[in-house]
Parts: sequence; structure tokens; C-alpha cells
Amino acid sequence: MWKRNRRQHDLVGRWWFQRSFSVKTKRSPFGSRLTGVERRIRLSGIAHILDKAVAGERLSGDEGLRLLESHDLAAIGAAADAVTRRLHPEPYRTYNIDRNVNYSNACTAVCDFCAFYRPVDHPDVYVLSREVLFEKIEETIALGGDQILLQGGLHPKLPLEWYEELLSDVRTRFPGFNVHGFSPPELYHFTKISGLPLRTVLQRLKDAGLGSLPGGGGEILVDRVRKLITRGKVLTDDWLNVNRVWHELGGRSSATMMFGHVETLAERIEHLERLRQLQDETGGFTAYICWTMQPPNEPPWFGKHREGVGVDMSKLPPAGAFEYLKTQAVSRLYLDNFANIQSSWVTQGEKIGQMALMFGANDMGSLMIEENVVAEAGTVYHLSLETIRRCIRETGFEPRQRNVFYEYVDKGKSAGCAAEAGGNALPVLNSPVG
Ligand code: SF4
Repeated sequence: MWKRNRRQHDLVGRWWFQRSFSVKTKRSPFGSRLTGVERRIRLSGIAHILDKAVAGERLSGDEGLRLLESHDLAAIGAAADAVTRRLHPEPYRTYNIDRNVNYSNACTAVCDFCAFYRPVDHPDVYVLSREVLFEKIEETIALGGDQILLQGGLHPKLPLEWYEELLSDVRTRFPGFNVHGFSPPELYHFTKISGLPLRTVLQRLKDAGLGSLPGGGGEILVDRVRKLITRGKVLTDDWLNVNRVWHELGGRSSATMMFGHVETLAERIEHLERLRQLQDETGGFTAYICWTMQPPNEPPWFGKHREGVGVDMSKLPPAGAFEYLKTQAVSRLYLDNFANIQSSWVTQGEKIGQMALMFGANDMGSLMIEENVVAEAGTVYHLSLETIRRCIRETGFEPRQRNVFYEYVDKGKSAGCAAEAGGNALPVLNSPVG
């Protein structure tokens, strides 16, 4: 069955190359007899930029901006899909099973989009006990998961030793289980709490059992934007530097972008440019995931802590599916040194999350057994494992479970898969490209 779907996919996947881009001959891709679709793309003024990206040439910032300013979603999506198929010719699309565990909601920072945090003296503040944490890990393993995404607020009192003990306890009790933990803002905060250099903090946590870093708290990596919507949180250079030093220590991390609020389109491109530059330098990012800002139901402002400052993000209209798919597709075209792009079905829902696989994503992300932060903002979707697998199948691919390093962790079912070829790994770009 999948062979027929695969063949259909190959045909569609080659559409760009055969009809729109003559890679070998370097001739004009459209020749003299243009179809209506081709003519529309040519007239849109972005065809030469899409051609470049599909051929594997790096886009400039101006070219990236031209794409974001365009409304030709179909053309941009087709180009992003062609790039995805070039990077991922395997007949699979992947997903992960993990659980989002928030060890504490106490936070010294103020982010105008965050309805999850509480000031440390707030009655709702909690710190997860070991018993509850272990229970959550046991449930995750029972559901076929292999890691937790462990994040919290910027707790003002917990010392670095508390985090080390937590990691070491998890490793002792669940050997081989991955802790994908502590976003760059938290790790930067740990240097302030401990008074220790960043490299020392990261090395100590790595030694204690930290497996990989999530890309949380990236929002938009432009200080103008960060200062408008967050206070007391790491700025751009330090967010990137946490990842840089972690990569230098041999670690891997993911990168994110939360868009659709106060940033300009040029600032979205600047964000992508900063990620691309760091990936050139270290090659340590495994994947990129973007999502639209989910406006909180009401301003999550706590007393005078927030009076008179910040942005009431509950009043911002949420970006729609068009903007999400276009931004993800442009990200696929711009981030030529990132191997993997994840769909964000948690914020976009099943239908758009599935369509994201046709707009540059090669991965459905995680089953996400628990998602507190987005849920607090009022917008959260839940998909079962079978729904995620069906979403992938309907696009003509076989679903495969992977770990955070994009290695298959299920048993290969079809001949010719990477696992059976001996690699057991998807193509992650380890070295700088471009
Ligand atoms: S997003 Fe993170 S850093 Fe910002 S207020 Fe919420 S918990 Fe704190």
C-alpha cells in the first residue's frame, strides 16, 4: 500500500524539479509554454529566490524577507517541500514520545505571553516532589516514551545542587532515560544563582545526567522584541551562547521561534539568521520548531509587579494558519544547515499540524503526554499516538518513532530503512553546511 503512496509522492515531490527547476541544464525552468500555475509563480517575483533555495543555495536576509512578505503560500510551500524531500528522501516521517514535566512554576521573570508562571510568594507556587516526578517517568515509559522535557520557571531559591541531585536521581532510577531539560533562560539563570561560569554550570549538569537541551525561551532572538515582551529574562546573545557552549561540550539542542506578536517580518528573518550562523559555527542543533504566539486569556499580571509595563498580549489577534505555514516553509528554505523541522500540532491542531508536513516539516514532534504551559494560555490540542501515526500515513509516509537525536527507536518495518542499513539514524547535519 505504502509503495503506491510513495510513488505518488515521488511524482509530486519531483514537480518542482521537473516542471519548475531544471537543475542539470540550468535552463530557464519554465521554458516558453507556461501553465497557469507556473505563470503565477513567475509573476509573483519570488520564483528566482525559490529556485535558489530548492537548488541548495543559501538565501540572503533580503531574499528571506521577500518570501515572508509574499502571499504566494502555494509556491513557497512547494519549494519548502522540495527541499524537505531532498534532505529526507527516506519514505518515513517521524514522531517522538515524551512528556512535558514542569518541575516548578515559580519564576522571577515576567513574560507577557506566559500564564504559567507565578511569583515565588504566590499561593499556587509548587515544586514537584521526587515521588510525583518518578511516577510521571514511569507512566511515560509505560506509554513507550524515552524522555521527559523538563522545564520550569526561573526559581529564585533552588541552588544548582538541587538540579544536579534531581538529574542524578533520575539517572540512577531510570538508566538510559533521557532528560531533555532546562531551556537556555533557565541555564543562564543558574549561572546567576550559583555565581559560576556558564561552562562550569553546563558541565556539572551534563556530568549529573543532563542529556540534551530544549530550545525554549527563544521567542524572537532580537533584543528590541525581547525587551518589549519579557523582563528579567536572558537576551539574545546569552540565549545563543548557552547553546554555543553546550554544543562545544559535545551536547545537542533544538531551536525554536515563537512568532506572530510584536516582531516585524525583518526581525523574524534576523532570528533565523542568528540561528543559522550559530549552526554554521557548531552544528549542534538537531531541529527547529516554530509556532504562533498563543494569546493568554487575560493579562497574567500579578499585582504591581507588572503595572504599567509590558504588552497586553491577550489583546493581540492570534496569527492564522496561513502565517504559520508560510513562516515554517520560509524557515525550511532559510535554515539550509538544519536537518529537521518539527510541525507544531500542539499549537496548530491536528489538521494544520498535519499540513505542516507538506510545508517543510519532516517530523510531527512529540506525542507530548503533558503540556502545561500552552494549556495555561488556553490553547492546547491533544492527539493520540494513533492520530499522529495516521496523520503521517495520510501524507504518504510511514510513521517512525525516533529519539531526541533523531535516531529510530522502533523496529524498521520496511526494507531499505536507515536502521536496517546499519545506521539507525536519520540524516542529522553534524557539521556546518553552506
Ligand atoms: S515563559 Fe518562562 S521565563 Fe517567562 S514568565 Fe513564563 S516561566 Fe518565567
